[in-house]
Parts: sequence; structure tokens; C-alpha cells
Amino acid sequence: MKVIGLTGGIASGKSTAARLLEELGVPVIDADLLAREAVRPGTESLAAIVALFGNRVLRSDGALERELLGRLVFEDPHARVSLEGIIHPEVRRLAELKLEGLRKSGAPVVFYMAPLLMEAGADTLCDEVWVVDLDAGTQLQRVRDRDGMSRREALQRVAAQMPPAEKAARGDLVIDNRGTVEELAALLKELVKTRVKGET
Ligand code: ATP
Repeated sequence: MKVIGLTGGIASGKSTAARLLEELGVPVIDADLLAREAVRPGTESLAAIVALFGNRVLRSDGALERELLGRLVFEDPHARVSLEGIIHPEVRRLAELKLEGLRKSGAPVVFYMAPLLMEAGADTLCDEVWVVDLDAGTQLQRVRDRDGMSRREALQRVAAQMPPAEKAARGDLVIDNRGTVEELAALLKELVKTRVKGET
């Protein structure tokens, strides 16, 4: 089974690309969903996070207060490294379980969509990596439109991540998402035909 990593910067269009790939019949594992699963109430990861950040990161129902935790680590890079040290290995373990299940089911190819694929070293799970990319101006506009942020906030969010050019350089294929969703759909359809299924 071939595993293709799918990554890119904030609001680059990874989720949109993932949805389009699923529509083309290719399974996609979503690392964001696994990250939520990793910290469900009762997990060791959640206990470790509470030990580190205190009960303030728990909601009254015992689930993780993700917004608050996000803000705390955004302001404190050391805390972010500690948090990632708890979550990333668990996400990787869950991803490996999913991959094993798909392998057993006979799937010939699967995408692993992960915003921090390279930062977490999860590109080592993949046979190749596709990077969704776009110019900085369009990216900023899409962050602002989606999240209702000021230009300043959006710039901070973009600057907190690995520079998109570095991600693109480390990938095997760059998916250009400067155009419309329809153009992205057509590009992915062609790539699945030629590069994934090997048809001419
Ligand atoms: P993040 O990692 O920040 O959650 P993402 O990389 O998964 O983001 P998406 O959620 O797919 O990105 O897209 C970001 C925003 O840009 C969404 O509002 C989406 O609808 C929009 N978008 C994505 N692709 C296009 C496109 N080609 N044209 C216009 N809008 C787009």
C-alpha cells in the first residue's frame, strides 16, 4: 500500500484537497481527528496535559478546553514543545493503527493529511509527500475570510508555522491552490489518474 502525505500551511487548502480526494475514492486519514481522539477523557495523554497545564484546561464535562490550550501554547513556545511531545507520538500510534487496518483491507493507496506532517516527523510514515501551496497574499486573505481575523492576527498565525516555501521544498509534489476550488478538483483528478493509479 502506498502512503501519500498531504500537508501545507495554515488555510492552504489541505482539508479541501482531502475532501476532493475522498470524492475521487481514495481513503484519507485525518491527523486532526486523530489528535482529538488522542486526548479524549480517560486517555493517558489528557492526564499528562492536565499535569502540565493544570485543571484550567479541562471543561466541566472533563473534555479538553482546546481553545484555551491553543492560546496558552501560542504564547509560550516551550509549552508548545511539551504539548507536542505528548500528542505527536500518540497521533503517530493511532495513524499506524489506521494504516494497518487499511493495509489489511487491501487498499492500494491512502493519503495521510497532517498540518504538521514534517514538524512531527510523520513524513517518515509516507512514501511521498504532497504539499498544498499558494502565494502569501491569497493565504492571508483565506485565513482572514475563514477565521474572521485582523490582518495582524492572521500574519502572526502564518508566521508561527514552518515557512510554506520550506515545506514545498521538502515535499515531492507541490499542489498549486492559488486558483478556484474547481481548478483544484481538476488538478487532483488528473494527479490521481496519472500519479496515484498509474493510468496514462
Ligand atoms: P487549516 O490547516 O488552517 O485548518 P486547510 O489547509 O485545511 O486549513 P482549508 O480549510 O481546506 O485549508 O481551506 C482554508 C479556507 O480557504 C477555507 O475557508 C476554504 O473554503 C478556502 N479555500 C480552500 N481552497 C480554496 C480555493 N481554491 N478557492 C477559494 N477558497 C478556498
